[in-house]
Parts: sequence; structure tokens; C-alpha cells
Amino acid sequence: MTGSAIYSLEDLQRSGLIENISDGLRRVAAQFSVAITPTMISAIDPRDSADPIAAQFVPSEKELQVADAERSDPIGDFSFSPVKGIVHRHSDRVLLKLLNACPVHCRFCFRREQAGIAGGVLSSEERTRAIDYIAAHTEIWEVILSGGDPLMLSDRRLLETLEKIRAINHVKIIRIHTRVPIADPARITPELVEILRRDKPVYVLLHCNHARELTQDVRAACARLVDAGIPMLSQSVLLRGVNDNAETLSALMRNLVECRIKPYYLHHLDLARGTGHFRVGIDRGQNLMRELRSRLSGLCQPTYTFDIPGGYGKVPIGSVYAQARSDGWNIEDHRGVIHAYDAAGEEK
Ligand SMILES: *Cc1c(COP(=O)(O)O)cnc(C)c1O
Ligand code: SF4
Repeated sequence: MTGSAIYSLEDLQRSGLIENISDGLRRVAAQFSVAITPTMISAIDPRDSADPIAAQFVPSEKELQVADAERSDPIGDFSFSPVKGIVHRHSDRVLLKLLNACPVHCRFCFRREQAGIAGGVLSSEERTRAIDYIAAHTEIWEVILSGGDPLMLSDRRLLETLEKIRAINHVKIIRIHTRVPIADPARITPELVEILRRDKPVYVLLHCNHARELTQDVRAACARLVDAGIPMLSQSVLLRGVNDNAETLSALMRNLVECRIKPYYLHHLDLARGTGHFRVGIDRGQNLMRELRSRLSGLCQPTYTFDIPGGYGKVPIGSVYAQARSDGWNIEDHRGVIHAYDAAGEEK
């Protein structure tokens, strides 16, 4: 297929991913920009009208439907931002958002109103102020580089930033939230791997929603990271029409584990504007999690997670298997059979 990235409706039409450029699509693209990398274009099956990769990146007129509950800052980042680029909601960890750019623009993105803004990189003074904040707050144990996508930075800028963070004594863990190994696997060069693997542990958290995103090149890029001793975890978003059935989710989780990537979170979709067509009910999400529990190895189990609107943080919302009784517990097994547990001698 085509060798160049897609950044416009015209590009999409030329590549055959949309037939016509309607007024509706123009309005969508004016609000939420379009970006698809060659690797992701090549993962799309153009004969499949419900292709799960295309659904994530090709804009749709459905994005014009905005529900009352949807908002431009769905998880309340702004109210927890003491200095530009920092979100400090939980005392032991901060998000450090170095830039707004992403290699692809996911149509369901929770930060879609900030994503892709040209020039959205912290200036060096802003970066210094953000890192000074981390240095001044000794309760911060972990720094999470997020964005945008931190691996969009040049090696030089990334190394500079990591060196400054690594020099802060109380920071023990650096985590990188990224989609680059999937969207642009060639970016995972030996030089980049070398920058990530030094000194303090760097965990790479890969955003992946469908097993078909794990192309041969993507698997090789992830293997370069893991072979260098960099632990990888995954986060996925539960998305209607992309991965909202037990077979697809099972294949996704198993393929991740086969790549030595431990499934970490399955996110319930945030209330970003114009994302209603991707939304799955919490009850269905819980049922899917029960199916995963009964079908798959414990290695393949993510935590189903909900980010409470308004900035109250993330909580697990999967099914509960233990129900308290007056004199003990009812515990359900993976087949749905209840077993009484009398908890003799345990506090209640
Ligand atoms: C998601 C998030 C984190 C990370 O949460 P974990 O549960 O540790 O993965 C940290 N800070 C903010 C503001 C977040 O939104
Ligand atoms: S990679 Fe993440 S931050 Fe970037 S557009 Fe997709 S969901 Fe948004």
C-alpha cells in the first residue's frame, strides 16, 4: 500500500480509505485533526468495511454527535496541573506531558482537543519549571511521560529530559506511555533503546487495541525493547466496533503476552466529545472481563479501569467475585458457581 502518512481528508480519499469528502467530514477534520502512519495504513484491510484499525483512525461523521455528558477535559487534568506540563493527582506519581504530538490521531482520544496542536512542545524554560516541580516534591516516586507521545521527541531532547529526571534522587521509576512502537516501529532504533535502558528503570506502556496492530515490524520493535531489559505493559481502550467481544479481546491479550507485554489496563472509554459511537456500557465491559477471566491465563488479565470524570482518578470496575454474608463470604468461581466460605477465625 501507500508509503506515505495521511494527514488530510484528501490523503484519505487518495488512499481509498474514504470515498467522498462530505461537508460533515470537513467539519470533523476541522475540529479533530487526522493522522495515520504508513505502518497503520498497511495494517488496514481496505476490503473490510468494519476494519478495526480503520475504525480507530479514519474520521467519521459520527464524531459530530456530542452528548451532553461529553466534555473537552474528560478526566479533569486541568484542575490538577500545578505548572504547565505536570498533572499531579496522586501524591506518589506525576504525569509529565512534554508535547502534544502523536504519530496517529485516535478518533476516541481522551485528549483529542489538545492532541496534534502544532508547536505543542514544552519550551525549555517550561520543561525546566516542570522538572523543578518534580525535584521539589520528594513524595514523587514515579514520573510518567505522557502527552502526546514522548517517543515523538528527538533522541537528543528525550535523553536530556531523562537525564534530568534520573538525577532526582527520590524518583525511582520512569514510565513512558506510547503508541510509537505500533504506529512507527522504525522509531525504536538501537540508539533509542540505549537511551531508555540506562540507570533508573524505565517501563514502557504500550497503547494497543487490536491484535492486528501487532504486525511483524511492531513485534520486532517491541522485542528490541524487551530484549534490552525494558519491561513492557499494555493499555487498551474498550471500543465498540473495534474490540468489544470476547474473541477479539482474548486474541489481543494473548498476542500481547506472546510479545512479552503484560496487559495492564483495559480502559473504559472516557467522555471525550464526539466519541459516543465507540462507547460500550460498563455492564457489558464487566461481562467481557468475566469471559476473559474464565478463558485466559492470569498473565492475560488486564484490570478494567474507569477514570472518574471530574479528576477523581482511576478505579478498577471489573466484576466482584466475593460477596459478604453475615457469617462469612460467598465466592463465585470462574463458571459462576457460588461457594460458601465461612472464614472461621477471620475478622469480619
Ligand atoms: C492515569 C494516571 C496516572 C497513572 O495511574 P496508574 O493507576 O498508576 O497507572 C497518574 N496520574 C494521572 C493524573 C493519571 O491520569
Ligand atoms: S496515541 Fe493516545 S494521546 Fe495520542 S491520539 Fe491516540 S489516544 Fe490520544
